[in-house]
Amino acid sequence: MSTPDTVVMKFGGTSVADAERIKRAAKRIVAQRESGKRVVAVLSARGKTTDELIAMAEEVSPDPDRREMDMLLSTGERISCALCAMAINDLGHRAISLTGSQAGIVTDTSHTKARILDVRADRITQGLDADQIVLVAGFQGISTSRDVTTLGRGGSDTTAVALAAAIKAEVCEIYTDVAGVFSADPRIVPDARKLPQVSFEEMLEMAASGAGVLQLRSVEYARTHGVQIHCRSSFDSGPGTFVLGEDQTMEHPLITAVTHSRDEARITLVGVPNRPGAAASIFMALADANCNVDTIIQNEPLTGGRDAEVSFTIGTDDLRAAEAALAPVQTELGVSRVDTDREIGKVSIVGAGMRSHPGVAAKVFQTLATEGINIEMISTSPIKISCIIRAVSVPQAVRALHSAFELGEGGIEPDQGPR
Ligand code: ADP
Ligand code: ASP
Ligand code: MG
Repeated sequence: MSTPDTVVMKFGGTSVADAERIKRAAKRIVAQRESGKRVVAVLSARGKTTDELIAMAEEVSPDPDRREMDMLLSTGERISCALCAMAINDLGHRAISLTGSQAGIVTDTSHTKARILDVRADRITQGLDADQIVLVAGFQGISTSRDVTTLGRGGSDTTAVALAAAIKAEVCEIYTDVAGVFSADPRIVPDARKLPQVSFEEMLEMAASGAGVLQLRSVEYARTHGVQIHCRSSFDSGPGTFVLGEDQTMEHPLITAVTHSRDEARITLVGVPNRPGAAASIFMALADANCNVDTIIQNEPLTGGRDAEVSFTIGTDDLRAAEAALAPVQTELGVSRVDTDREIGKVSIVGAGMRSHPGVAAKVFQTLATEGINIEMISTSPIKISCIIRAVSVPQAVRALHSAFELGEGGIEPDQGPR
């Protein structure tokens, strides 16, 4: 059960990018407190700080040690929190900033992509009980080996949801630079429609296929722990998007959104011997290196006959680790070549309604064909169709699909918030 008086507010990087925006976030936090709520705020690093820290690391090391990377990356969100606490104190309220570790966020030991195992929120509740506004540095925790960890890109969303679950907040508000979750990235499709609500099932597919507005793990965590997410604009006060259980959503369109990603690469192993266990060796090595593999294609069964070619896509964040993990497998299996293609992109359509409607895939393929866009790989789930295409064609493909499925403003009657 959630408690009606506690709210978690998370502000993303753009929302705290400079002094004015930090003061604006501080005012918004204070207004929430003055309305009678107990407030925990989770902040991201300012603007492009995390990218800059990564670039700094790469200046001194071609393959930075992951433990040290986490020490470095975790500083970005600490800066935001301390500054925001200062701004809140100047507004006459008492704020205290905490690192992820101080806030009791315990993770596993996978540096740079750690998973939250436990939240020991007593320090936060003490602060709230003492009438303080508690600010927590997003994107970080402390591992079971007592090292600082980070939660993967976009991880402050997951910090916010995990804290909301731990302190049983009534809502986890994700304040960002767009007005909510849209039918496509509004930066690519200007007439994309803001979705008043979206189901967990669809949001999971959207986040997994590139809609970076919410980190995938935050959506998984919210679903498992029953956290209400409200994704909304930090620049205006209108309602955003509520992520709801399937039984609570009122809209059931055929297609909900078009998503895309340009952060993936394709690895192809040429000349994989046709014998049982070859694919297992490849993908076990990748799993051991903690690499998330997406679409997989194998041109020939790995039993009998000629050599096979195995292709799969992987996030560019995992590329270095994947190449390192595959080197011994290549030798062991006698694979003739491993090629990497960084110029791929992925476009997907997501919608719970497609489950019961034939012809959606045909319409996707036809739309891309009309645009002259070649599909290189396809993967599907019951509510998603993804096509791997050239990265340069991604914006064109997203716009064409968004328009073919009539997802723009006026396509579907909007309705208001959750029931
Ligand atoms: P923050 O720094 O607040 O965490 P992010 O950059 O992580 O913000 O996420 C917000 C961005 O997500 C938006 O600026 C938008 O370009 C992008 N985005 C991609 N797909 C979508 C979508 N379907 N709906 C809304 N935003 C999207
Ligand atoms: N600062 C981290 C990133 O840029 C985490 C976050 O913003 O959620 O990925
Ligand atoms: Mg984000």
